[in-house]
Amino acid sequence: MNQGSTAVNRQVASFEVRLTRYIDPDGRGLAPLPERARDAETLRHMYRVMVETRAIDRKAVSLQRTGQLGTYASCLGQEAVGTAIGLAMREQDVLIPAYRDYAAQFLRGVPPQATFLYWAGDERSMQFPDDVPARHDFPFCVPIATQLTQAVGVAYAIKLQRRHAAVLVSCGDGATSRGDFYEAMNAAGVWGLPLVFVAVNNQWAISVPRAQQTAAQTLAQKAIAAGLPGEQVDGNDVIALRQVLGEALDAARDGHGPRLVEALTYRLHDHTTADDARRYRSEEEVKAAWQRCPILRLRAYLTAQNLWTASDEEQLDAAAAAKAESVAQAYLATTPEPPQAMFDSLYAELPASLRTQREQAGARPAKEP
Ligand SMILES: [Mg+2]
Repeated sequence: MNQGSTAVNRQVASFEVRLTRYIDPDGRGLAPLPERARDAETLRHMYRVMVETRAIDRKAVSLQRTGQLGTYASCLGQEAVGTAIGLAMREQDVLIPAYRDYAAQFLRGVPPQATFLYWAGDERSMQFPDDVPARHDFPFCVPIATQLTQAVGVAYAIKLQRRHAAVLVSCGDGATSRGDFYEAMNAAGVWGLPLVFVAVNNQWAISVPRAQQTAAQTLAQKAIAAGLPGEQVDGNDVIALRQVLGEALDAARDGHGPRLVEALTYRLHDHTTADDARRYRSEEEVKAAWQRCPILRLRAYLTAQNLWTASDEEQLDAAAAAKAESVAQAYLATTPEPPQAMFDSLYAELPASLRTQREQAGARPAKEP
């Protein structure tokens, strides 16, 4: 041993995770609003999108409950996340969504009846119209976290093509415990990709609470190991979300690399219509979460600023209900695909065993009597 050596024990790195919030749960402004949300009409637009999304979401649940839709994943309580994503993204960007990002899809031009068709198992639902920003977006990926590595591939292509565009990929809190999440962030960090990761922390991964999901203090800090900035934002404050996501997307487009944004929110509904959340969480917890609802919060703020009246609210409620009803009618009026269609998007060439099944399916009527 070298006699002159001394032990080394010093700090070599330190990190911080910041949380952004502009409006508190009671609708009180905590600071001057950021530039992206200073305009009154922008704020009202955000509010309208969230209310309309909630009405459409409620309609989807009603259709499922009456046997007219398959299993459905409600976005109740998380409307601000999808709204802010949709407003922060530009046409040339690519959205790789998680289910519940409905508002983002609607803002990018996906017809809401396509969402209903998706949950009815109709393959045509994810063929987005050619003339809307969503035309190059991805469909939902139901297996947890698998969309994250796909997003790396898309962002890498954008970088190779030197396009001024970014990818936004979203996932739930449960997805952040998967290997795909770390692998995707690692690759994005090394390659400096134009990629924004949004971890929508709605506190529950089906029946697993956040505390049993990970021992990490925040989900945002998971980015630090991959060399990415990670930050938290109040996911029920649409103004804060719009600002943080706008900054992250601008940075990604401008060549400053990827970021992780953890949006703190709460899933007010069951995981899906096939779930009963009363079995694993208390009524008090859900009641308390309603107090932080993103729609109530923005309405309180707008009302206090004299930007929204009772009559505005009444008109919006009626318009949102009418919109939801017309979406449902458009969905119900769609001629179902033939049963064999379920085989047609699986393989370039169908294996023999599935060819037989496809033929058998074709021999059945489109709708069982
Ligand atoms: Mg979750």
